[in-house]
Amino acid sequence: MADGDRIVIVGAGVAGLRAAERLRELGFDGEIVVVGDEARRPYHRPMISKQLVMGAARPPDTTLRAYGDLDVHWRLGTRATHLDTVERVVHLPGGESLWYDGLVLATGVVPRHLPGSPRHDPRVRVLRTIDDALAVRHCLHASNKPAVVIGGGLIGNEFAASMRHLGRDVTLVGHAKAPLHRFGSRISDAVVKLHKEHRTKLAMGSEVRHWISTDDTVGLHLTNNKLLVASCVVLAIGSVPAVDYLRGSGLDVEDGVLCEPTLFAEGADDVVVAGDLARWPNLRFDEVPRRVEHWINAVESSRAAAENLIAGRSAATPFAPLPRAWSTLYDVRLQMAGMPSLGEDTVSLADGITGFIRAGQLVGITAWDKPRAMLDWTAELDRRLPVPEYTPSLASPEPVETWPDEQFDTDERFYPDERFDTQEFYAQFADEFDAAEDFAR
Ligand SMILES: Cc1cc2nc3c(=O)[nH]c(=O)nc-3n(C[C@H](O)[C@H](O)[C@H](O)COP(=O)(O)OP(=O)(O)OC[C@H]3O[C@@H](n4cnc5c(N)ncnc54)[C@H](O)[C@@H]3O)c2cc1C
Repeated sequence: MADGDRIVIVGAGVAGLRAAERLRELGFDGEIVVVGDEARRPYHRPMISKQLVMGAARPPDTTLRAYGDLDVHWRLGTRATHLDTVERVVHLPGGESLWYDGLVLATGVVPRHLPGSPRHDPRVRVLRTIDDALAVRHCLHASNKPAVVIGGGLIGNEFAASMRHLGRDVTLVGHAKAPLHRFGSRISDAVVKLHKEHRTKLAMGSEVRHWISTDDTVGLHLTNNKLLVASCVVLAIGSVPAVDYLRGSGLDVEDGVLCEPTLFAEGADDVVVAGDLARWPNLRFDEVPRRVEHWINAVESSRAAAENLIAGRSAATPFAPLPRAWSTLYDVRLQMAGMPSLGEDTVSLADGITGFIRAGQLVGITAWDKPRAMLDWTAELDRRLPVPEYTPSLASPEPVETWPDEQFDTDERFYPDERFDTQEFYAQFADEFDAAEDFAR
């Protein structure tokens, strides 16, 4: 990138914000435009299912700080409608087009809707944005009848715990046998026990057969023949990448945007992808492209994507982090590192610490309320999963077209001796991670 260039960032979430920040840290002096369809500055999304929905925080409390003066042109409340990678233009509503020299795609995911659910009933909600949280609170205020959450993943469990914190009657419905079953039986057994202690009702192994909307309530007839009556139903059944505007752009948007190990979009010289949207091969694990939907990944991938955009595709380095995430249920802290979902077997590593093994190799760990031990085990996992040499054959199966002004991409002012160092990054942003984790407590 050269002075005077324009970098457009699509998506004003944490990944968009941290990408802008990293571009400025690296000395990028050109124009940065951030396009976001929400009408708000980037905010702390994990608070939605916890403090916001409980009313323990207000929307302004969630706003993310930027480190330093970003000098960014915000285009909030503006939805990107189409991308033309040949003309290097992002299309906006009203026929407006925004040219770019470099592009960061960071539009995250949108909640999945449940087929057959009454989508237009205001008492049936999803939880992704601040507006969603406010709408759920509105439902809860309107009636003190029970709440129901459908979905036994992290957000569904967090929402159920938040409801019990408010003293609300809540039932968690899920088609799996147990909540959080993806994290292994040790965690899911512990979650079941915890919900029971807090008198959260569970209807696992069941689905909704019929929906019955009345003036006062929403009825849910389950496949286990139970009938639940609720004043507020939250659908927390996963999410799909926000890629509508990318269809027809030539990018592979099968499940997020397919990327090279460096987070450059496959086949594009000037487009990098960050956050929940990116599907890339994390070479620490294997060469299979996958997405990661966690906060720390959004922060780290956006910084890495910004670095690689400045470095240019030919000098870019792979993004091979050790994914880490947390959740809070009641007062218990659940933490993950690596990729537990890849495990074929589990092993108890220490009290509350479960290891996930693939082909004799530790690939992930979870911790049940053991933050101190988790630090040590995360360091151990990091040691056991070294980042392999980057093989150029993975970099680009297609010949890469270079820009006429590519000399700027490797400009020493910006990059060469800056390699992403997780430890250094942690030290630098310790406050942010502490704050993020405090929010989640
Ligand atoms: C309720 C909830 C609780 C969570 N709790 C945790 C937790 O405890 N721990 C954890 O590790 N992770 C948690 N997460 C996940 C974490 O919040 C995400 O991984 C992170 O926010 C991803 O950041 P992102 O910037 O990639 O995407 P997002 O934060 O989703 O930001 C993307 C932005 O792009 C916008 N956008 C989409 N399409 C367009 C378009 N066409 N044009 C313009 N803008 C567009 C979106 O509206 C959004 O504002 C939680 C997520 C949710 C929803």
